[in-house]
Amino acid sequence: MNAIQIKMREVAGQLLSLGEVDRVIGWEKGRFAHQSPPAFITDETKVERLIWDEYCLTGTAKYLLDDPYRAGKTGLFARGCDARAINRLIQDGQVKRENIVIIGICCTGMSDSVSRQMAAKCCDCTHPTPVVYDLMIGEPVKPVAKPERFKAVAELEQKAAQEKSEYWTRQFAKCIRCYACRNICPACNCRECFADQYRVGWLGKQHHTAENQVFGLTRAYHIADRCIECGECARVCPVGIPLMELNRKLIKDIQQLFGDYHAGVDSETAPPLGRYSLDDMEEFM
Ligand code: SF4
Ligand code: SF4
Repeated sequence: MNAIQIKMREVAGQLLSLGEVDRVIGWEKGRFAHQSPPAFITDETKVERLIWDEYCLTGTAKYLLDDPYRAGKTGLFARGCDARAINRLIQDGQVKRENIVIIGICCTGMSDSVSRQMAAKCCDCTHPTPVVYDLMIGEPVKPVAKPERFKAVAELEQKAAQEKSEYWTRQFAKCIRCYACRNICPACNCRECFADQYRVGWLGKQHHTAENQVFGLTRAYHIADRCIECGECARVCPVGIPLMELNRKLIKDIQQLFGDYHAGVDSETAPPLGRYSLDDMEEFM
């Protein structure tokens, strides 16, 4: 058993037995060796379910919004991406910091359960060490810039407008509107999503490319300056739409317009599109 897993069980057992948390959210072994789905543990005698291996891919923070976990206090195992997601939810007023005990884990990256190679989302990770925590497991690692994560966007930007349009039309033609990208996303945290509106004029329920594009582009713009680059949306998309290319195009543009900003790195700095100043660069302001 690896050292992180031993420590996870020890910490979870202590927190539950002392009554400091009502539940712990981490990962457990799934049906298959290459799956480690989330674990929800309320009893200190069950902490041996917790595991830490290369397939702990799923983000933990979004579960803080699930109805059963809203009341009481939660012990949440959090890697760099999960910690940024927690800051995202705090900043959006969805969770309270005092209701979460953050057990940070310094992460070196997970493996894709199909290719068994380093998961794409982990290859592009800039903050492997949690940016916020109460307890920490493992040795902290410094943030890394990873400018190469914008390579695909830069290549796409070179193409003609028609070619770009056709590229995204082809991508969104594949979308089955399962909303997995929205459901897994810590920045997509509206209690009532525009995609669930039945009133005419919002989003058509029919499955065709134009409505799929309205959904995908509206979602991307809605979270443009709040996306923490966890890569979960692209990971869970069952038809392989390269959603991170879209997210990173917006992040790249925002960085060019408003300077270096990394969503979720702290819970204090407001996202660039969520604040204004009297000397805003736009003259109409
Ligand atoms: S996860 Fe993929 S297929 Fe499902 S709604 Fe999102 S973009 Fe469409
Ligand atoms: S849009 Fe994708 S990468 Fe950005 S926060 Fe949501 S799930 Fe993570």
